[in-house]
Amino acid sequence: MSPVKPLETYREKRQFQRTPEPYGDKEKPQGQPVFVIQKHDASHLHYDFRLEWGGVLKSWAVPKGPSTTPRTMRLAMLTEDHPIDYAQFEGVIPEGNYGAGTVMVWDIGTYRNLRAEKPDRPETMEQSFDEGKIEVWLDGRKLKGGYALIRTKGMGGGRDDARKWLLVKMKDEFAGRPADPEKTEPDSALTGRSLEQIRRDAEEAARASVAGKPAR
Ligand code: MN
Repeated sequence: MSPVKPLETYREKRQFQRTPEPYGDKEKPQGQPVFVIQKHDASHLHYDFRLEWGGVLKSWAVPKGPSTTPRTMRLAMLTEDHPIDYAQFEGVIPEGNYGAGTVMVWDIGTYRNLRAEKPDRPETMEQSFDEGKIEVWLDGRKLKGGYALIRTKGMGGGRDDARKWLLVKMKDEFAGRPADPEKTEPDSALTGRSLEQIRRDAEEAARASVAGKPAR
């Protein structure tokens, strides 16, 4: 992938007069880096897994969502970096826009880079990413424990798309908890709303607003 300025691809894909998504010019929050998993009811329902580092949210689209069962591999397609304030974004991207559909903050919390804690060969997130093997400890409202992201390029003959990664639960005391989280815990970790409620709230807000909407 050719190097791009931070958030260039993200901004190119969007017209910010027409979508409630953040432009991404807020200051970086301090403290532990955040992770977020957004449930995105676009043309196909999927989950967007995002990890904060380097001033952005590194992002993967996970069609089936995360599994809490170790060794269950979930396809994770690398997508464009998102701004850090996207982690709090919940709402509806209107028809005709990139990614049109409802976005829910399905899980949110902080994470630790487990590979930075290896005494023999500590690695930054950037190094882990370049090597195609990321290991993080999630401290979310739903998901906890170790998760690995593994780039498949080179595996199985090397003809894989460079954007293709796998998301896998690591073995620890949080394995299997909760089982089938996307079914047992379908609602927002931020507001408790369902996709349908988020959609209804956005419709109501649109009806209530006067022509045009406040800049954001
Ligand atoms: Mn998405």
